[in-house]
Amino acid sequence: MHEIALLPGDGIGQEVAKEAIKVLEVLSQRRGLTFEVKEALVGGAAIDAVGEPLPEKTLKVCQESDAVLFGAIGGPKWEALDYSIRPERAILGLRQKLGLYANLRPVKLFPPLIEASPLKPEVVKDTDILVIRELLGDLYFGKPRGVEAIPGGKRGINTMTYTTEEIRRIAVVAFEIAKKRRRKVTSVDKANVLEASELWREVVSEVGKGYPEIQLLHLYVDNCAMQLIRDPHQFDVIVTGNMFGDILSDEAAMLTGSIGMLPSASLGGKVALYEPIHGSAPDIAGQNKANPIAMILSLAMMLRHSFDLSREAEGIEEAILSVLGKGYRTEDIRQDGTKIVGTSQMGDLIAGHLPRA
Ligand code: NAD
Repeated sequence: MHEIALLPGDGIGQEVAKEAIKVLEVLSQRRGLTFEVKEALVGGAAIDAVGEPLPEKTLKVCQESDAVLFGAIGGPKWEALDYSIRPERAILGLRQKLGLYANLRPVKLFPPLIEASPLKPEVVKDTDILVIRELLGDLYFGKPRGVEAIPGGKRGINTMTYTTEEIRRIAVVAFEIAKKRRRKVTSVDKANVLEASELWREVVSEVGKGYPEIQLLHLYVDNCAMQLIRDPHQFDVIVTGNMFGDILSDEAAMLTGSIGMLPSASLGGKVALYEPIHGSAPDIAGQNKANPIAMILSLAMMLRHSFDLSREAEGIEEAILSVLGKGYRTEDIRQDGTKIVGTSQMGDLIAGHLPRA
């Protein structure tokens, strides 16, 4: 039996989590598998219920599970709260507590969506990139941080920091994965102006010497942002820090048509966490408009990486491909001549297209 901690969170996190569980239930029936799903509060929902975004009880459920499936958190309701107890602290806290330093974000285009991308079909065709984002360092955790009073106003401070070991371990992840892909690693930094990036480049180059079969290239983040749109085919594995990875992976999402299509896996500790890369989308929350595919693909990543259920993961991916191939779309990937469905109908369709045997 596999134990899953389910943390739907806020906004569309709740809606897409429901669809992932729908798919998991049909899959378990069809394949004779048993999963125990334990739901726990996180983010704004947890603040409302118990006054903090990552309650101890939720952390315990996660630590005692085999894997965590996470929806999304945040929203206007909690924006005025002090930064230290905002919903977003929960995901940062979870990553830290579970030791999840490597975030894998596959950017793969489903062929039926080639026209859904705002970029030209010949640019996005066959896009297959893996963005590996470091998750526990950089500006998101560096100290000092805060806002302090200065004569005549205030000063906001965040600190970009990386240690040799933090860079080494994420570089190893990138090179090891590149061995099983097209053997190319692009390391992204801003070494022309930032000392933390200078160290990043030095350590990644050093680790790269141990992988002579892998081609290593370095790009500045501004150039990488441009190259991703100009010619995504030049990329196989991209490895980068927390901040640059956050931004570049959202940009890369548009190659696939929508941020609603991109799953992610966060690895490094005993328990891995799987989540769509999108947020709680307050603008469409509660309207049955959210695309649940990123969440359902996150479930597929969980089956593959945490439970060694590759066939089942492929079954989910094939079901998504069939549904898209038959012309069903959520609003965010709307194209002329397609059938627009809501979140729950998309979940029903994917569950209904899972392989029978
Ligand atoms: P967002 O990802 O929630 O939304 C950005 C845009 O993409 C919106 O127009 C939204 O409607 C659209 N979108 C996102 N997911 C979609 C989906 N599945 N289907 C269709 N459209 C989708 O980012 P944001 O608006 O910058 O942030 C909203 C809230 O989410 C904020 O509170 C932010 O802090 C939080 N957030 C949370 C996470 C997380 O939980 N890991 C990640 C990013 C943002």
